[in-house]
Amino acid sequence: MNRAALTITGQDTDGVSRFRAYGVRQLDRIAKRFGLSGETLEAVRLVSLVLPFRVNEYVLSELIDWARVPDDPVFQLVFPQPGMLASEDAAQVADAAVRADRGELATVVAAVRSRLNPHPGQQIELNVPSDAEGALPGAQHKYRETLLYFPGNGQTCHAYCTYCFRWAQFVGDPDLRFTAPGPERVVGYLRQHPEVNDVLLTGGDPMVMSAETLRRHLEPLLGVRSVRTIRIGTKAVAYWPQRFVTDADADDTLRLFERVVRSGRTLAVMAHFSHDRELEPDLARRALGRIRDTGAVIYCQAPLIARVNDDARVWERLWRAEVAAGAVPYYMFVTRDTGPRDYFKVPLARAASIFREAYSALPGLARTVRGPVMSTTPGKVVVDGVDDAGDCLQLRFLQARDPLLVGRPFRTRCRPGASWLDELTPVPGTPADLARAVATPALPAGIPPARDETAPDKEE
Ligand code: SF4
Repeated sequence: MNRAALTITGQDTDGVSRFRAYGVRQLDRIAKRFGLSGETLEAVRLVSLVLPFRVNEYVLSELIDWARVPDDPVFQLVFPQPGMLASEDAAQVADAAVRADRGELATVVAAVRSRLNPHPGQQIELNVPSDAEGALPGAQHKYRETLLYFPGNGQTCHAYCTYCFRWAQFVGDPDLRFTAPGPERVVGYLRQHPEVNDVLLTGGDPMVMSAETLRRHLEPLLGVRSVRTIRIGTKAVAYWPQRFVTDADADDTLRLFERVVRSGRTLAVMAHFSHDRELEPDLARRALGRIRDTGAVIYCQAPLIARVNDDARVWERLWRAEVAAGAVPYYMFVTRDTGPRDYFKVPLARAASIFREAYSALPGLARTVRGPVMSTTPGKVVVDGVDDAGDCLQLRFLQARDPLLVGRPFRTRCRPGASWLDELTPVPGTPADLARAVATPALPAGIPPARDETAPDKEE
């Protein structure tokens, strides 16, 4: 790609790229450098009033094929696009922007955001756990054995994906954010809930934190004996692989990973790759190699997104490249019911067909991948396929708030164009508990009452 561009911005004078985020303020410069049309520029500017926009030099110079813009999949992945807002919403925002009344614009933008379902899956109502002080900020406890932890310093990313289901984390509204100032209350909660053996650091992207800040959030978790697995959800290998290779504290970060592994925990880096192009740069593959050298395992996941990766050949290449880099293909997700979903959604029947075509071309070692999977209010539901007549979907809960639902197959009518669980109707004869889970939001059965545990855990 456009390697010379690094020197144009003056970031690479000593041969080392330093991270700097670009946002709306840099749009004019980006447009000039890469020849974006005025029409595209204004569309990006308008939609980015509602949805977050952030990119960096590596994504601009190494990942986007500017000759293919606006259809280029990585351009679609990071630059807000005209069709992402409903036309009447776009018109309202444009009118308010022209009138230049900041109060009015903020009101219009807030109303549009609220119509984009900022917290899908009833995350606030059902997933936020409590301790003696009340709701635990920056934590979610949906499944019995897993706690999601949103460290406050990690609630941004090296670039933003336009399809992000956590977009509400990035729009500057404190009412829409999950964020924990520090790990103290989470550690207290974990001690009260020894059934939780798996903590997922998530965001945003925890790998935006410096090694020292990450250590402050991670190390206290090692003092909880019942925590056996620590996972870090990140897209840093795709968006800023320098984080593990040439950043000033890359080595310190990897030493921290080694420390977690030495404590006897499984450390899993849950790497997000949307397109095989993200694994083409040598730097990305080096980053994966360095992470693996610490003893961490790397699992890879991404949603299936129209205009970005709705092509079986892309997934086949991606999964093959992951295995070649020593990583494990893990999930193909269905894009969630939030943000500009109408722009990105892929009907379930087509998703199942893309998955099957890519999967059937894979060698056995890459067939670790599951999909397409909907992460829904009652749990993770995989679409196993469409029956030969084309009128029913075969589905199964891979994970559920109610453990009794896990692994049981069920069938629904296959409505043309259906793209989420709430558009499906179980066939007659479906067991009542499965039919209820499909039809209604589940109660938070995965959150058992707190247990008193007076003896503090020792660090292992
Ligand atoms: S890297 Fe992850 S959290 Fe960040 S914008 Fe992309 S999908 Fe969202």
